[in-house]
Amino acid sequence: MTVRYIDAHSHLQFEQFAEDRGALIEQMRVQGIAGVVVGVDLITSRGAFALTEDAEHLYASVGLHPNHAGLEYFDEAAYRALAAHPKVVAIGECGLDFFRLDGDKLEQKQVQKELLQKHIELAVGANKPLIIHCRPTKGTTDAYQDLIEILKEAKATHPTLRGDIHFFVGGVEESKALIALNFTVSFTAVITFARDYDDVIRSVPLKYILSETDAPYLAPLTRRGERNDPIAVIDVVEKIAEIRGENTETVRTALLENARRVFALPG
Ligand SMILES: [Zn+2]
Repeated sequence: MTVRYIDAHSHLQFEQFAEDRGALIEQMRVQGIAGVVVGVDLITSRGAFALTEDAEHLYASVGLHPNHAGLEYFDEAAYRALAAHPKVVAIGECGLDFFRLDGDKLEQKQVQKELLQKHIELAVGANKPLIIHCRPTKGTTDAYQDLIEILKEAKATHPTLRGDIHFFVGGVEESKALIALNFTVSFTAVITFARDYDDVIRSVPLKYILSETDAPYLAPLTRRGERNDPIAVIDVVEKIAEIRGENTETVRTALLENARRVFALPG
């Protein structure tokens, strides 16, 4: 197939796709959409990898989401074994989520940071990029500030460290700091109905943007509130071009090239 789009982040292995997953994967193939299927714990990481075995246009990412930090044991050996496979192209999603903290917040943050550190080591060991989830406390950039500090420190010892900041909700300053560390930022179909991301989408160099859907979540304007799917990556790419005032085809090919570079995909 000729790949025209890459959805850098979906959860096609989730049960929301139990009924029509096969049909969707075929539709992706027909429309030239490749995708990275992202795990949030060990079961869904294995599920993501399993999907890649029968579909040449699917790749997997394996990791333990920060919202599961402290709830599920991080089985390093199991993740390392998965990460060694060529179709596992990234480590994550991992990161910091300060949005939903309750109880002892300081302690929870510490648990998340330790878990992130383990993913950094895994990514460096496997020489694969990170897929990072980072969500600050409402109205702040706290999780981004901590993330930038952690990545800076890690980068000093591991210059090959790289990756994508999924569903980027930070500001221009945070995007600059992350790009300087060789991280891309990716946007979802939320940009089709929320205007909060326009400034950052215009300011980031095109080379550092990826397109994603985060399906089954975050459906575009035309299907708002419904289950999302990776086909919506087309809406995301078109909207990024519109917001930036650039040619859709130029943006499409640039974003495709970016995802190939970050995930070292063939083509
Ligand atoms: Zn996700």
